Amino acid sequence: MIKVDQEKCIGCGLCAGICPKTFQMNADGKSEPISQETSGCAQNAAASCPVKAISL
Ligand code: SF4
Repeated sequence: MIKVDQEKCIGCGLCAGICPKTFQMNADGKSEPISQETSGCAQNAAASCPVKAISL
């Protein structure tokens, strides 16, 4: 299950840039998952998050 820790997320937008089909920035300026597809770019996005807010 893909989750973004809303407390940790600093809203840098990196994950949504790397994997826009899985992550979208919400009205609070934080990332939220819009799909549960854990293969491919979601892995890259999680690994690239500077604050490790994404869990797969
Ligand atoms: S890469 Fe991490 S800190 Fe940046 S928007 Fe995504 S979840 Fe938030």
